[in-house]
This record gives sequence, structure tokens and C-alpha cells, in this order.
Amino acid sequence: MSNLDRQAELSVCGGRGFVVAEPVRELLTPRRVRLGESTEVRRLLPNLGRRMVGAWAFVDHYGPDDIAGEPGMQVPPHPHMGLQTVSWLHEGEVLHRDSLGSLRTIRPRELGLMTSGRAISHSEESPRSHARFLHGAQLWVALPDAHRHVEPHFQHHTDLPTVSAPGLTATLILGELDGTTSPGTTYTPITGADIALTAGAEARLPLDPDFEYAVLSMSGQAEVDGVPVLPGSMLYLGCGRTGLPLRADTDAGLMLLGGEPFEEEIVMWWNFVGRSHEEIEEARQGWMETSRFGEVRGYDGDRLPAPELPPVALKPRGRVR
Ligand code: MN
Repeated sequence: MSNLDRQAELSVCGGRGFVVAEPVRELLTPRRVRLGESTEVRRLLPNLGRRMVGAWAFVDHYGPDDIAGEPGMQVPPHPHMGLQTVSWLHEGEVLHRDSLGSLRTIRPRELGLMTSGRAISHSEESPRSHARFLHGAQLWVALPDAHRHVEPHFQHHTDLPTVSAPGLTATLILGELDGTTSPGTTYTPITGADIALTAGAEARLPLDPDFEYAVLSMSGQAEVDGVPVLPGSMLYLGCGRTGLPLRADTDAGLMLLGGEPFEEEIVMWWNFVGRSHEEIEEARQGWMETSRFGEVRGYDGDRLPAPELPPVALKPRGRVR
């Protein structure tokens, strides 16, 4: 999905300064953002005071929305730079097209992983014939400097590995959890896992104390380290944990997001991750005036114009440790 916010904000993220070294329980409330005509999402990252979790730089939760007889998701062609997009569904389906010629229907608990590298463009839409409900999350992973100019590529993994314990099934989206690894290509030490809990479950997830973590609630009534987390909310957990207690009163769906703290400072604006205002400006111009981001074929509609850049240039900030 795209950041369709017409007042796209320029934000500096990353760097050790934002990372909490100790275990914490910081409940993040979502900001409601309208995407075009039809869809409203709950944005968890970037959030006030919390811009990244590991390399995870953007988290939107949407649905479940009843889209029977409606077009559903309609996100026109738009560009990306310097990041990976992760499409994750609990219900419904999303048709992905990109400038590499990929044409894929992503279904629940399948990984749609698009690595933009230096430049890609894509569209996302509910297929004409679609399920009644649409429910999912759209996430971005920032690419480290050493890999952010890689050739763009798209992966679709339909059979992801799982880890099970009584009352719990974890599906590996990205990276590693408890010795099991997702086939999705990663560029920083990272974890993304879908956690399905059955009613009455009590479990403890093994974590890496060097990672920072957060848990997004997708559905049901679950407690994360003793804190009830309602669907559409996210609990930031800090670093320094070897395990995470989970319990559920009803069947519940969570997403565990974590990774090594992202030490490089990034500049994020609209659908781009860069390192300076100038780079972002060039990317915007590249989308509006040149063929840098390629062409998406087959989408029924116009491509998405970039919003105006804010009038004040953001001063680039150096890396911090
Ligand atoms: Mn997108």
C-alpha cells in the first residue's frame, strides 16, 4: 500500500537515540488515516515519540472491512525507494502489480515482499471478484545504506514456516524466531511473525535480548506481558528481553515485530526512504518527470501524483550511536 496522506510529513527516524535499552511497556495508539476514497487505516508507525522498531519504519493496520459489492482497496501506481514493503493479510486478497511486471494475488498468511532498492513502482487493488472482508497490515522495512540501492525485486511466499507451542502458532514473515527462519530476503537482523493464539492460551515467546520489539494486535483479546492490547493498537517493548509472556481470553491474532536497533538515521517522506532532503527531492522529481521508477501495466486508472514537498528543507542529521 502507499502512504496516500496528502500532507505527507517529512520525518527523521532511526539512530540509537530513540531506542529503549530496557524492557518497557509503551502502548502506542493509532492515528486514523484515510487512503483515497474507500479505505481508512490505523497508523502505528511512525507514531508520536516512536518512529521505528528495529528496521520496521511503517505500520498500518486496516479492517476487517466489509467490502461486499464495493471496489475495496484501490491504490494506484506509486513509487518506492530505500525500503521493503510487506503485505500481510488475515482476510481477503490483494492484487499486486509492479514495474518489474509482477502480477500476483496475495492471500491470507502469504508473504508479499517487495524490495524497492533504488526504484520501483507498484499498485495494489482488491480483485474484481473478492472476499467479503478485507483485513491486514501494510509494513515497511528500511534498507541499510549498504543495500538500499539494490536491484528491485518482488517475492511471493505462499508456504511460510511455523513454530508451534500449546495454544500458539507463529508464522515467520521475515527473519528468525526460535530457530525458524522465513524465506523472505532480509538486509538487517529482523523478526516479523504472525502469532495466532487460541482462547485460554498462555505462552512465552523466546526473544533476542539485543533486539527491540513491539506487538501489534490484529484481532481478539490478548495480553502481552500483562498488558491488554486491543486490535489496532501496538505495544512497544524495548530491548533486553529473553522471553515474552502472552495470554489470550479469546482466539487472538498478534504480529511480533522486532530487530536490531536501526543505527542509521533516515529521512522518510511519502513513499521514500532516503538520507537527505535532496535525495527525497530527486526521487519526487524522478516520479513526476522521468521514467526512473518504471511503469505499472494493467492498472485501471491514473498513477498517483506526489504531494508537494514541505517548504522548509529538513537538515540532514548524522548517524548517532
Ligand atoms: Mn506501496
